[in-house]
Amino acid sequence: MIARADDVATRAQKLHAEAIVVDTHLDAPDQLASKWADVANRGATDHFDIPRARQGGLTAPFFSIYVAAGYADHGAARRALDLIDITHRVVDGHPRDLTLAASSAEIRAAKKAGKIAILMGIEGGHAIEDSLGVLREMYRAGVRYMTLTHTNTNHWADSSGPFYEPDFDPKKSAVHGGLSDFGKTVVKEMNRIGMIIDVSHVSDATIRDVLEVSRAPVMASHSSCRALSSIPRNLTDDQIKQIGAKGGLVMINVGSAFLDQKSYDHFVATLARVKPEYLKLKAQYAKDPAKLRAEATALLKRQDRAPRADWTKVVEHIERVIKVGGEDAVGIGADFDGIEDPPIGFEDVSLYPRISEELLRRGHSEAQVKKVLGENFMAFFARVETVRDKLASEPPATAVYSEK
Ligand SMILES: [Zn+2]
Repeated sequence: MIARADDVATRAQKLHAEAIVVDTHLDAPDQLASKWADVANRGATDHFDIPRARQGGLTAPFFSIYVAAGYADHGAARRALDLIDITHRVVDGHPRDLTLAASSAEIRAAKKAGKIAILMGIEGGHAIEDSLGVLREMYRAGVRYMTLTHTNTNHWADSSGPFYEPDFDPKKSAVHGGLSDFGKTVVKEMNRIGMIIDVSHVSDATIRDVLEVSRAPVMASHSSCRALSSIPRNLTDDQIKQIGAKGGLVMINVGSAFLDQKSYDHFVATLARVKPEYLKLKAQYAKDPAKLRAEATALLKRQDRAPRADWTKVVEHIERVIKVGGEDAVGIGADFDGIEDPPIGFEDVSLYPRISEELLRRGHSEAQVKKVLGENFMAFFARVETVRDKLASEPPATAVYSEK
């Protein structure tokens, strides 16, 4: 018997209300740093505020401590601390709705208490300024994952590069051939202290090295499937398979170019068209990278926008990861507040219930839907915590970074 549509909607609503709903990448702090707003009010940031998060049944978003490439060697750790402070101010201002969390147990406790658990993840390994001491201090400050690079290759890990630049060439980002020796030490130290390793943004060679070196399962906090959209930020089927086989996670990014080949192709065509003008700007502002960035952004904004994906693409990517990496390997890392092109029908944090309903409609079991929403992350986080506990007798790494 085929369930009536109403039955599915009712089941989805009930399931979603009970479920732990995790989103591993939300860029609200960066937006609040540019323009402070009270998250109790609708529209506080592009895609997040308490009313919309409540509507979406969100249990545990990771606030991204996003350190832009421009801060590399220019106050990166300070920028991270500023965004950690913003996160604390947001949580402290709303004790009835929000609570800071740093463990799987604290996420469950928040759900029980009817609160939204806010966690933190650093985006951009340059934030630790090549210091294992700073890495450990970030953990003590409550940070629970670190994306090894942003779009910049840092002193110890290669990035997949700045794919949005008209003269993008991934070869320019391949400096170490993956992780340097110090990069491998960073990864092992992250295992020891219980900091989740995030491979979104890193190069394919870095992913290969991380999978070889890491003693804990790893996560891509906001990346989708390259088989469905060839943007270099997405993962190949082979990578998804390997991440899944090691107990790791792929958290789906909902940016339209990440979801839909048509959207990404349009973007690439736009970059090719503006390239001559961009190269002129690059020559003109050779000594002023901030100005160049602003001018390049303005140039791209003047072009017609790529078509937005349909929201059901999000579910197609979830199903692709299930097929390739297994049903334990997938979740959501929407990248809200960090993307300008969410799909039509999935514009902000109020809309996670659509995922539950669509997955049920497509015949996934309630247990499977709960896994996608958050239980996969909870089990993964617990596995990382177990590795940390097993390594408790290992002394802190003493390596000091030095330029060769
Ligand atoms: Zn990102």
